[in-house]
Amino acid sequence: MKPLVEQLINDNLIDLKPYESARRLFAGGQDWLNANESPYNNIYQLDDSALNRYPACQPEELLESYADYANVERDNVLVSRGADEGIELLIRTFCTPGEDNILICPPTYGMYAISAQTNNVGVQSVPLKPDFSLDVDAICQTKNVNLVFVCAPNNPTGTQVARKDLETILNAMADRALVVVDEAYIEFDAQSTWAQELSNYPNLVILRTLSKAFALAGIRCGFTLAQPAIVQALLKVIAPYPIPEPVAQIAEQALSQKALPRLYEQVGIINSEKQSLTESLSAIDGVEIIGGQFANFVLFRHARANQLMQFLVASGMLIRDQSKQPQLQNCLRVSVGTPEQNYRLITLIKEFLNEVAQ
Ligand SMILES: *Cc1c(COP(=O)(O)O)cnc(C)c1O
Repeated sequence: MKPLVEQLINDNLIDLKPYESARRLFAGGQDWLNANESPYNNIYQLDDSALNRYPACQPEELLESYADYANVERDNVLVSRGADEGIELLIRTFCTPGEDNILICPPTYGMYAISAQTNNVGVQSVPLKPDFSLDVDAICQTKNVNLVFVCAPNNPTGTQVARKDLETILNAMADRALVVVDEAYIEFDAQSTWAQELSNYPNLVILRTLSKAFALAGIRCGFTLAQPAIVQALLKVIAPYPIPEPVAQIAEQALSQKALPRLYEQVGIINSEKQSLTESLSAIDGVEIIGGQFANFVLFRHARANQLMQFLVASGMLIRDQSKQPQLQNCLRVSVGTPEQNYRLITLIKEFLNEVAQ
């Protein structure tokens, strides 16, 4: 007889590999440039006077602060445990297990497919074209797709999505699918947001997070922006108390008028550091910069990427191997860190090329 867990586990989970987060892949390390976190650690205050009470499901002030920040209405906003929970809620709300499909455009963020698989929802794939633009015709021809995930700027290629391409897809899918624009990195390319288009497209959904530019990956807080009918549907599925009270307090402080200038300042520094990191990388023999730099990371290719990755990890410099994604053979992704970390990365790569790879 098979062990009990093997008898009982859902069929769709047997071959599923859990998301390989930085935290699962590496125990140690000193420089964490592999999860696109912010290098900044900002200070917050906690009020512990009501921690004996359950928190609000959707803390009102937090919804209002985020609506103000994103320049949308309060009833366009849902707050969740990171954007990842937004992805999960969309799939659980709008896809019937064993019947419906989501559409992804790889190379892209891995959690769309994993969330679909854990919910026994199918995954159709229309790869990006060689220039990493969307294959609009192929996307519009897909059938039986309820959610189209478009990451903009895209992780891990760092590229923008052409507005007219998204517009075509939104219109083509108007009576059959929601188009989910994942704006996890939008603060690094702020003028490209689709948030101001919500009232024009009833099938537009936007994902946001405090994990990247806001430097709050540790609190797990994300937002889904959409027309109220979509938000109300997601509220049927969300847990009763998804946002812990300390999370709501910290998120509100991060979104306050007092704190926002700090966000913009840190984004400015990261963007200019990103430019020098890109220049230093591209000056190294054999390194080819891949994609765009519209987020807080740089993607590059090197013929010995695999060895280089091992060398960096052994030196405590953790970056992200993207070489298994379509079109990204021998590609590594590095998050923009502090100037010191970026300098150490460049020094280590040069050391590898000079000494180890002779
Ligand atoms: C990091 C990331 C997320 C996850 O955000 P959380 O709010 O931390 O769950 C979602 N989408 C993309 C594209 C990301 O890179």
